Amino acid sequence: MLRCFRKAENNERGADDFHATGCPLNVADLRTPNPIAGAFVEAGVEAGFPRNPDFNGANQEGFGYYQVSQKGGSRFGAGRGYIGATPRANVQVITDAQAQRVIFEQRRAIGVEILRDGKTETIGARAEVLVACGTFGSPQLLMVSGVGPAAHLREHGIALVADSPETGCNLQDHIDYAINRKFRHPALFGIDFATPGQLLRGWKQYKRDGAGLLTTNIAESGGFIRSRPELDRPDVQLHFVIGIVDEHGRKRHYTRGYSVHVCVLRPKSRGTVRLASPEMRVAPLIDPQFLADPTDLQTLMDGVLQAYRVLRAPAMAPFEGRAVYGTNWAEGAELEALIRDHSDTIYHPVCTCRMGSDERAVLDPRLRVRGTEGLRVVDASIMPTLISGNTAAPTAMIGERAAEFIRQSNASAARAA
Ligand SMILES: Cc1cc2nc3c(=O)[nH]c(=O)nc-3n(C[C@H](O)[C@H](O)[C@H](O)COP(=O)(O)OP(=O)(O)OC[C@H]3O[C@@H](n4cnc5c(N)ncnc54)[C@H](O)[C@@H]3O)c2cc1C
Repeated sequence: MLRCFRKAENNERGADDFHATGCPLNVADLRTPNPIAGAFVEAGVEAGFPRNPDFNGANQEGFGYYQVSQKGGSRFGAGRGYIGATPRANVQVITDAQAQRVIFEQRRAIGVEILRDGKTETIGARAEVLVACGTFGSPQLLMVSGVGPAAHLREHGIALVADSPETGCNLQDHIDYAINRKFRHPALFGIDFATPGQLLRGWKQYKRDGAGLLTTNIAESGGFIRSRPELDRPDVQLHFVIGIVDEHGRKRHYTRGYSVHVCVLRPKSRGTVRLASPEMRVAPLIDPQFLADPTDLQTLMDGVLQAYRVLRAPAMAPFEGRAVYGTNWAEGAELEALIRDHSDTIYHPVCTCRMGSDERAVLDPRLRVRGTEGLRVVDASIMPTLISGNTAAPTAMIGERAAEFIRQSNASAARAA
């Protein structure tokens, strides 16, 4: 897939065998790296891990800074990269609307019903309908439209278009445990009496030269490591975050600190997305089944012990701080309890509309929904298994590959006509 990754990328470092320039998604180095995120990288090297300036290059293993989706110090996501501010004659963007269902004629998708300003509208499709509602939304939209496990759709009184037993199954995500430490340091972020001044200075610097605190991606540095030395490749990823992250930031701590996130790259647990209602407006039932497979817990525990080695290395030792929960170097039963109480997603859910060449796969290898015509899914939900890293760039790559499939289908339809 390297070719399709490169079709998406404009890396400010320049092109090489693994990276490209001149394509829609801008990739940059952090403009103002945080010194403590740097100390974490040094500590990783001191602990015996390789230094790695490019996790997306020849080798994934090691410690370094993450590159970011930014341009000029501002967020630069796929919307800006691919659609941006330039109108295109062949694209009409409708916002503040929710797709309610895919409309079928027999098994052919012929359009989409949307809800906008409280009114239902229909949009017809001459060639294909592409569903890109994400890992939770795409299986939900398929199911409310009649594509899903037959018995589950029956429970909700939805007329069956295609029995697709694995729609909404195979949910995989990177389970993550954050070693949260309270530590007062002016370079770290948190909520205290100095925060307003820090933000004001950050804002001025950002306006002046597009740099400073406000250009941080928060999770600045990290590493890919093997939780046990005998493994042949990294199975754990670390993110060093320059603030305390508790309950996804919902639980506030009125102090400064940092968090070292430890996540399992290839979890074995599998969850589900199911309908709570036949209405798209009602959120689906999401059950990630985290830690259902005991090996995920073991990997997480081993990964935390490796992270402790880094935190104890000379470069990080001066920043030990105080654990937000439990003791600083919790192990064994204490660590297990902490993980069970506090681990959660690091936001990489995928696989609920998996592609595959087997009959049970929701999509065929060209991302077409099995049992239907004129319908594809193009987003992170199509992954057959969770990839061993962050999921945004791979999702852009999926979009690039899908564009090739769609063009090829259009060309063969034109030839046939
Ligand atoms: C807090 C957070 C932080 C993350 N950080 C990183 C990171 O640092 N690096 C990284 O690589 N990845 C990161 N990710 C993961 C990354 O954002 C996702 O993997 C990626 O966005 C998946 O793309 P997608 O197109 O599948 O889904 P999405 O980006 O979720 O897009 C789906 C879109 O469909 C819309 N939608 C859903 N249902 C409907 C409907 N019925 N009608 C109309 N619209 C609908 C949604 O509103 C959404 O805009 C992060 C995710 C989160 C949530």
